[in-house]
Amino acid sequence: MPPVPPAVLSVDGLRALLDTLTERGYRVVGPTVRDQAIVYDDIRSPADLPAGWTDDQDGGRYRLVRRDDDAVFGYAVGPHSWKRFLHPPMQRLWHTERDGDQIRVVPEAAPDRPFAFVGVRSCELHAMAIQDRVFLEGGHVDPGYRARREGAFIVAVSCGHAGGTCFCVSMNTGPKAGAGFDLALTEMVVGGERGFLAETGSDAGRDVLAGLPRREAAAGDVAEAEAVVARTAASMGREMRADDVHELLLANLEHPRWDAVAERCLACTNCTMVCPTCFCSTVEDASDLATGESSRSRRWDSCFTTDFSYIHGGSVRASTRSRYRQWMTHKLATWHDQFGTSGCVGCGRCITWCPVAIDITEEVRAIRDGGTR
Ligand code: SF4
Ligand code: SF4
Repeated sequence: MPPVPPAVLSVDGLRALLDTLTERGYRVVGPTVRDQAIVYDDIRSPADLPAGWTDDQDGGRYRLVRRDDDAVFGYAVGPHSWKRFLHPPMQRLWHTERDGDQIRVVPEAAPDRPFAFVGVRSCELHAMAIQDRVFLEGGHVDPGYRARREGAFIVAVSCGHAGGTCFCVSMNTGPKAGAGFDLALTEMVVGGERGFLAETGSDAGRDVLAGLPRREAAAGDVAEAEAVVARTAASMGREMRADDVHELLLANLEHPRWDAVAERCLACTNCTMVCPTCFCSTVEDASDLATGESSRSRRWDSCFTTDFSYIHGGSVRASTRSRYRQWMTHKLATWHDQFGTSGCVGCGRCITWCPVAIDITEEVRAIRDGGTR
């Protein structure tokens, strides 16, 4: 496919993009306002997007706030991540059906349509790449994840607003969408008009962009998009020194800070549920006594539960101290040994959604500084 130069889409162009994706058979999922948060759900038009809303985030705090403009992507990230579609919280794997005196095991069907994800942030592209490594590139390919991931069309959005708990600059994962997308948009205002600089990252993206109403981007458009991202990078809510964190944590496994954080941690699992890279799950069987049918499902689990590390006779990680330490050292240290990257992309969700505002960047700083509080 010949290259398609960067272009500028209007809001009507964005509408045409969503229409095109729907017409091509995708299940289009993007950000929308629900339950006082920006969540990911099925969308049909720009009217479903969170125009004019932003998020106010800090440790243990998330509020939607009205913007003083009508920016469509003028927020950071909410409680959802794309893993809820690629690696769903609850996924039936198979069920049985009775056929006379026979029992048939029926595997769960693959989704009937590929996903189109709209509004994927740079940190989330990195998180997807991490889960790809876990589910697709190891010794055991996960067929359910592969069925959802293959053929997905990704519309990334470089960030024009950094949340109060974002630290993607520290993790080198944002705020500009660099790779892993079909189309990448940067929202901006040029000549008083709202527009989206559109860049392509695949043949599928070039094919879609070529069919949209657009104008070719001028040098000034590209410069403005770069300025948007630069302003976002300069306004990160958090930062964390990451270059030596692997050695730092593994050299401090008996640091008193683990006791201090365990006094606050509720072991509620929120941080692992909202994290876009956490992938642990458990398997549950269920039987229906009325029909005689049974099923097996996989649901998200967490290293913060005692059951998760239960081996006959007891839990390997019996204390909250050991469970928090396992989570943080895996995210920031042993993930490198296991998968070749950090397990943290700096999205800040675990800080925002922790009910007692435990902050991974602050915990690293405390261990580095030797303090316990
Ligand atoms: S760190 Fe916070 S979110 Fe995570 S388990 Fe502990 S209390 Fe829950
Ligand atoms: S550990 Fe926290 S900041 Fe890092 S990717 Fe997970 S939720 Fe985001």
